Amino acid sequence: MTTTYSNPELPVVTGPLFLPDTRGYDEEIAGFQTAYTHRPAVVVGALHAEDVRSAVEYAARQGLPVAVQATGHGLSVAADGGVLISTRRMREITVDPVARTARVGAGVQAEALIEAAVAHGLAPLNGSSPSVGVIGYHLGGGLGILARTFGYAADHVRAIELVTADGRLRRFTLGEELFGAVLGTGGNFGVVTALELELFPITTVYGGRLIFDTGLVEPALEGWRQWTWDLPEEMTSAITMMTMPDIPVIPEPLRGRYIATVNIAYTGSDRAGERLVGPLRSIGPRLIDDLRVMPYSDTHTIYSDPPFPHAYTATNALLPELTADAAEAFLDVTGPDGPVTVVAGLRHLGGALRRPGPANVAVDHRDAEYLARFITGPETGGTVVGDHHDLIAKALSAWTIGQSPTFLYGAGERADESQTRAGYGPATFARLAALKSDLDPANLFRYNRNIRPART
Ligand SMILES: Cc1cc2nc3c(=O)[nH]c(=O)nc-3n(C[C@H](O)[C@H](O)[C@H](O)COP(=O)(O)OP(=O)(O)OC[C@H]3O[C@@H](n4cnc5c(N)ncnc54)[C@H](O)[C@@H]3O)c2cc1C
Repeated sequence: MTTTYSNPELPVVTGPLFLPDTRGYDEEIAGFQTAYTHRPAVVVGALHAEDVRSAVEYAARQGLPVAVQATGHGLSVAADGGVLISTRRMREITVDPVARTARVGAGVQAEALIEAAVAHGLAPLNGSSPSVGVIGYHLGGGLGILARTFGYAADHVRAIELVTADGRLRRFTLGEELFGAVLGTGGNFGVVTALELELFPITTVYGGRLIFDTGLVEPALEGWRQWTWDLPEEMTSAITMMTMPDIPVIPEPLRGRYIATVNIAYTGSDRAGERLVGPLRSIGPRLIDDLRVMPYSDTHTIYSDPPFPHAYTATNALLPELTADAAEAFLDVTGPDGPVTVVAGLRHLGGALRRPGPANVAVDHRDAEYLARFITGPETGGTVVGDHHDLIAKALSAWTIGQSPTFLYGAGERADESQTRAGYGPATFARLAALKSDLDPANLFRYNRNIRPART
């Protein structure tokens, strides 16, 4: 049963409303990120697009900023007051197996889309974690597990259903300016109620993890670095160096150890995959080596991201090349002797990611060949983690051409404009800021890596 709320001071919606002193508020605002939560004045538990439209219209009328949350994985700037549109109930998925497309509601998580697609022998361009929201992922560009083969997921969106700051719900397709501006800007231009996405005829992947123990971390990084120089686009990989927590949920051979994990996803034949990874195996013995042909539905095991909510902050650097000096500098500032525990990752870009996207899609820095990521708990060891992020960023600064806006987590107070600008080339940023002036002059959609209106 649904209730229509018609209090004139509240949005008129069919889904539930939560106020700070009402039951269910804390559960509704809770998300994957536990270090920060939105603290809105009103939460709209949207059931469908009309609820979203009505919530935006209400917010605009009241002059209240709007935040959106599907899962909380990508929470950057926490809402303090305003209206939070919680999209978690909007879970509709429709697959058209002939057109190879899916229409996905605002609350759909990657695992549900994968399940719907594999039923038709198809696969979406999802990222590493099955619990990430499909819409937030695409609005950040979408760097998928098969990214070097297919490019950014944002480049494969067919249509966007969007509520803009004027309270209108419209459908945008390729070629329209707003279509491109929405993809890569994480909610700056409105609330997406659904996306139409391409699916791909992939049923299996050759991949998994090669995990090297402490003594092989340095050779593993050097071996992976050189290995990435000459790979086909069908091979997408990453390496992560970290000290595993010394807790019972971590399997015995890894618990408490400083390790390097190479993640592999290859879309060619298994025999070619085996041949390609030969140089990685020759680095030395592995604590875990589970490379295999797997059904697409098992590909979440390639990264085995933590499935439980936790606290994290992170930033990143996009690099056009990974020199030996850059790799050494990265390891020096992120290794186990550093002041805080860091998950230090590198993803291999290039391949199809280098190709220009459809007109105006706001994913820049396509000449980057590597993405360096540094993730920390927010308050580890009493160190100011933001300063440690700055230290790592400084160590890589000689090689850095920009930042990926989608891999900036938490630390909202540090989300200043320079950080947002680093996500785009100057011409793109100027175009987006001008568009923001036209479409959202009051900056209603500001709880994100905010592109402020150029003219205020
Ligand atoms: C464990 C983990 C693994 C990840 N792996 C990858 C990866 O492999 N590749 C990759 O590219 N990214 C990855 N990400 C980043 C992820 O794609 C972004 O954090 C994304 O924003 C998460 O979206 P969400 O809806 O799950 O999170 P939320 O916190 O619910 O949303 C994040 C932001 O997206 C915007 N947003 C969400 N839904 C809407 C909507 N309907 N309309 C308008 N704006 C909206 C809002 O600004 C919101 O604040 C990962 C993140 C985590 C935590």
